[in-house]
Amino acid sequence: MFAQFALHERLLKAVAELNFTEPTPVQLAAIPPALQGRDLRVIAQTGSGKTAAFVLPLLNRLLGDGSSRARVSLRAVILLPTRELAQQTLKEVERFAQFTFLKAGLITGGEDFKVQAAMLRKVDILIGTPGRLIEHANAGNLPLDEVEVLVLDEADRMLDMGFAEDVQRLAEACSGPHQTLLFSATSGGSGLREMVAKVLKEPQHLQLNAVSQLNEGTRQQIITADHNYHKEQLVDWLLANETYEKAIIFTNTRVQADRLYGKLVAREFKVFVLHGEKDQKDRKLAIDRLKQGAVKILVATDVAARGLDVDGLDLVINFDMPRSGDEYVHRIGRTGRAGGEGLAISLICHTDWNLMSSIERYLKQRFERRTIKELKGTYQGPKNLKASGKAAGTKKKKVEAKAGKKGAAKKPAAKAPSKRNTANKPKSEAPVLVSQDGLAPLKRRKPAAE
Ligand code: AMP
Repeated sequence: MFAQFALHERLLKAVAELNFTEPTPVQLAAIPPALQGRDLRVIAQTGSGKTAAFVLPLLNRLLGDGSSRARVSLRAVILLPTRELAQQTLKEVERFAQFTFLKAGLITGGEDFKVQAAMLRKVDILIGTPGRLIEHANAGNLPLDEVEVLVLDEADRMLDMGFAEDVQRLAEACSGPHQTLLFSATSGGSGLREMVAKVLKEPQHLQLNAVSQLNEGTRQQIITADHNYHKEQLVDWLLANETYEKAIIFTNTRVQADRLYGKLVAREFKVFVLHGEKDQKDRKLAIDRLKQGAVKILVATDVAARGLDVDGLDLVINFDMPRSGDEYVHRIGRTGRAGGEGLAISLICHTDWNLMSSIERYLKQRFERRTIKELKGTYQGPKNLKASGKAAGTKKKKVEAKAGKKGAAKKPAAKAPSKRNTANKPKSEAPVLVSQDGLAPLKRRKPAAE
């Protein structure tokens, strides 16, 4: 019951209107201390209800005793890593604020600067991405001295995207007494710890969804594959045979995303592709179509899919294994939301095995091993395993070379990979994360710029 929180009646009315009956765990944990005015550092996934966990206390604080004020001033700022996330958060704020006098505005890149500058003076709450907000701050448009609540949402993502300095500058510019609420999906690395130390005052730490308990509604499977061509066949089979409402397939490179997209289009799947070379218009179109259900399948790189919140996404296929446990959590965190069922399938070549086994250890989970009878290949995992679950002595065995020469996968995966599959491995696109919480740093690769 939301009535258990000391929330303003106009907010409770909005909550009832939205048919939110029971608070989610993150709301139960975060709303009471946030209402007391404490700084919070919360680890919670997208989909956990975390937005309401900061928006409700924020609105409650701005409402105060409910008396209207003589002038509007900027009193709350919510920073997010991407334009889509900012748009979603604005909608959420507007839904909760619908019975109040409070006004919210959006500041992200790609929109008219002057229009934004004028809007800035007319809102109580600003939701935006750090880059554009810094531009406004530099232009002297952004009065942050009266800010009472600062929210850093998906702070780990903002750091990954290189916004550390911008976020810090904006936080410093909030010079009056204020409350700071920092949310991240993962525990983050040293950069995040540094930010927590700099921007939060005696914060309460709340860790929801420890990674080991993540996505209880999502089954996690692996299917071994001989090479990329075999993986493409597996994707084709899964999309044709699995039951799902919407699916997302992650690749680590733009080249592979485009290639897979082409294959799926040729097979007449309704599919979109999202990667760093797509412009905002394509991105928006892809996301809108996916949300409306006109397209059921998205092929995406991690960077492009960041912050995506689409209802009914119940199948995630990792064409390539993500390079860290945290990235894996981000990817599969998109399924099984709000108690729904989801399925996450990772396709594992011999080059993916050790990464997969590191991620299993990180999550303290063992993924279900699955075989597709019709597409059973030669590679079934390393013959000998170390105690850690990693392959013992794979370097000498050169499994891929053998598979390439002999045509490792049996029919119909029997074709050897084409040169395009193996030669000149394209540079990775996703940012490299180093996992924490007891897992040794995963192998670093140099990411290409998004
Ligand atoms: P979030 O994690 O904030 O992105 O929220 C995920 C989804 O859950 C959003 O569509 C919210 O509107 C919804 N949601 C959040 N809290 C509740 C709740 N207590 N009851 C029902 N739905 C909720």
